[in-house]
Amino acid sequence: MEALQARIESFAKAKRVKNPAKPSSTITLKWPHPAHFTATSESLAEAGFYFNPSLEDRDNVTCYMCDKQLSDWEAQDDPFDIHWEKRGVKCCWAAVRCGLRGDMDRHGAFIFPDKSRLPSSKAMERARLETFSAGDGWMHDQDANHGANSRKMAHAGFVYTPQHAGDDLATCLYSKPASRQSRAASTSKQQHKELSVPTKTHDGSGEDESDAAPPSRRSRAASSSAKGRKLARSQSRTELGDVAEGADEDDAGEAEEEVV
Ligand SMILES: [Zn+2]
Repeated sequence: MEALQARIESFAKAKRVKNPAKPSSTITLKWPHPAHFTATSESLAEAGFYFNPSLEDRDNVTCYMCDKQLSDWEAQDDPFDIHWEKRGVKCCWAAVRCGLRGDMDRHGAFIFPDKSRLPSSKAMERARLETFSAGDGWMHDQDANHGANSRKMAHAGFVYTPQHAGDDLATCLYSKPASRQSRAASTSKQQHKELSVPTKTHDGSGEDESDAAPPSRRSRAASSSAKGRKLARSQSRTELGDVAEGADEDDAGEAEEEVV
């Protein structure tokens, strides 16, 4: 469930469980909450959760990274905030992703009031590195000569954000779209020098017509056999659009729409 798409799809699939009152039959459990809930399949999935219901907890979700289970969702419950509050110290995804809001001011600019959460801190680098252990781990670690091993990626500011099985998409959650053109491999560290002073806004410069809003830098590292080719492509996709949400209702509209 390390892939975002798998987590999203888990909410669309009904789960069948045995009916304790009638063992020969089953009960079908579907995600029970309406779309106006803050906790949607998209927000839950981006916050790290997949649908994992039981008869007792029909809206139970589980974190792909730390296995934390949460249920009894109410309309205003926010998956990011709750994951961060409950597991921010122990879960790397809660730390690197769900805690981002606390790093920003109300306009979505990074200010890092908690200096231990600076991207350059050892704790945050460790958390980023841990994301690369999800599932079968970072595939490029199997190649000792690959320039974009997980340690280098984490040191350079990237977290592992696979969209589907076998994906090697990594994302810098601090970067703004205008600076996203990057190659993930050996140059990633150099290109992420700005991690030490990442205090500028994430609202985009508008110079990228395709997706000016979301604050992310994403890279897919190519296999080492692709030497000489472009080693990675970088995207600024929309899954992270909610980074700025909650900071300001007026600003949140577009981003929310784009959360996938
Ligand atoms: Zn977790």
